[in-house]
Amino acid sequence: MNGTRFITKKTAADFEKMIIAGGCVAAMHDATRAAAAPGVTTKELDEVARVVLTEWDCAPSFLGYGSQQNPFPGVICTSPNSAIVHGIPGNYALRDGDILSIDAGAIYDGWHGDAAFTMAIGEVPPEVSNLIEVTENALWAGIAQAVHGNRLGDIGAAVEAVAEPHGLGVIRDYVGHGIGRQMHEAPSVPNYGRAGKGLRLKTGMALALEPMFNLGTEASVVLDDEWTVVTADGKWSAHFEHTVLLTQDGSVVSTLPEPKLVRSL
Ligand code: MG
Repeated sequence: MNGTRFITKKTAADFEKMIIAGGCVAAMHDATRAAAAPGVTTKELDEVARVVLTEWDCAPSFLGYGSQQNPFPGVICTSPNSAIVHGIPGNYALRDGDILSIDAGAIYDGWHGDAAFTMAIGEVPPEVSNLIEVTENALWAGIAQAVHGNRLGDIGAAVEAVAEPHGLGVIRDYVGHGIGRQMHEAPSVPNYGRAGKGLRLKTGMALALEPMFNLGTEASVVLDDEWTVVTADGKWSAHFEHTVLLTQDGSVVSTLPEPKLVRSL
């Protein structure tokens, strides 16, 4: 992961720009969710997201990310079924009964927003819809802990506790992150941890929380494209993410159609 190694403190003016970037990400989610259907390719969804970026006067966070030898070629990540994260949009045509994770990032005037969701394409078995529901619940449990005065371990512990009774694999090799002028900044935000431990959270921080849960084990493999991360056992995986701003008023989720104050100070 490239990006800063230190935690940057954002101002109210910085957060205003991150909220616009987050609104664009939410619009990319809405448009791709509406377009995703059997027969539609992941490349077509990438095109849908590109149009939204243009409408919002935003730049893509993901396009060109990574090394010069192998930059990420899409504006969104599309990760179907056993793909966990970082799937490349391409010729894969969605099928009835698939699940699809879409991760989108946008930059407004130099400031980033980053969020992901997983959806079912048509009907899926109860254990699969449960995987999706539990992963989203874990994201919101983590967000509830992302407040000034708490510690980083409070987030991870809350996320992990939601997965545990369902016996889901919690990805440890990939984590959430600080976000701001860079998509990936310090600190790392793991989906596991001990309550009351770790870095103290403070006003001025911005964090991307992103639980990734598997029906099987947490073990993962990177495909030959050097991007797509899949489960080692081939079982399916879900991913939800939001960007949370620790503002002077309280914690705000920026990557929703309207920014949402989840905890006032
Ligand atoms: Mg992220």
